[in-house]
Amino acid sequence: MASDLRFDGRVVIVTGAGGGLGKSHALAFAKRGASVVVNDLGGSHTGEGASTRAADVVVEEIRAAGGKAVANYDSVLDGDKIVETAMKAFGRVDIVINNAGILKDVSFARMTDQQWDLIFKVHVEGAYKVTRAAWPIMRKQKYGRIINTTSAAGLYGNFGQANYSAAKLAVVGFTQTLALEGKKDNIHTNVIAPIAASRMTETIMPPDMLASLKPEMVTPLVEYLCHEGTTENGSIFEVGAGFVGKLRWERTGGHGFPINKELLPEDVREKWSKIIDFTDGRTTHPASTSQSMESVMANFENVQEEK
Ligand code: NAD
Repeated sequence: MASDLRFDGRVVIVTGAGGGLGKSHALAFAKRGASVVVNDLGGSHTGEGASTRAADVVVEEIRAAGGKAVANYDSVLDGDKIVETAMKAFGRVDIVINNAGILKDVSFARMTDQQWDLIFKVHVEGAYKVTRAAWPIMRKQKYGRIINTTSAAGLYGNFGQANYSAAKLAVVGFTQTLALEGKKDNIHTNVIAPIAASRMTETIMPPDMLASLKPEMVTPLVEYLCHEGTTENGSIFEVGAGFVGKLRWERTGGHGFPINKELLPEDVREKWSKIIDFTDGRTTHPASTSQSMESVMANFENVQEEK
């Protein structure tokens, strides 16, 4: 049988680890030998208030089981302080799990600037600040594993979550560029779209559904992606209730209009069924900006002879 995936000697920062998914991640890494910084601001799920209790409870649980953990109560917006906690307590940072998050759900017609800004601050700027502080340490070590947390709402949109879905898709772009920039220094970054029972979902899902959506069914993917033996980088995963799957872009074969002719909206209308046809066997899965450009560049040759 293959050996267990262990994290002995590794230092993990889990943001928003006082409850829900973050707590599950923190407990799991500690159980497998990692030293864990349990970060949590301890506010409500809509971002009000603060308390040290959320992080403390998780640290106590880890220590009671013989694991190594310290608490940090800063907001992810003070990412440098969270990284400082890790450096002071354990002297390195190997893994960052950007998990902290809040919701400010409201229909777009009623959304205020404050509701928009706060969601971006916590999800996008928060992930940026923590990662930015850990990045030079990881580069120096020539080792790092980063997990960002998106959402189905970001990937597909969701009613009442224009702020959250925009921020969560920003996190995907952030992941894909970090994956490119970190690769040469053995820093791998991936993003998960989890679905799990937590205080965030308990008000919107029925109890029997929540019972099947344990955070512990999300965490093993995070552990696997963060292991030193895993090379996966820049990927998006959907995960929950025991399902784990990778997501990618798919583009139709499309239609190339002559480059030397005026392109009219009527021309687009004429070819519309071809432009949106995913069934003609010509679809592609561009995985980089250069692959994305290939079809555009190929059309440079599409010159129509004058009749
Ligand atoms: P949760 O509310 O249980 O956990 C989020 C934690 O983040 C809380 O403990 C909270 O105190 C902490 N937090 C909030 N703002 C913070 C800040 N500024 N600094 C530090 N900590 C802060 O919710 P959860 O469901 O476990 O969510 C975890 C992550 O997963 C979030 O990013 C969420 O958007 C994402 N997510 C969850 C689901 C789901 O089904 N539960 C689905 C999609 C995405």
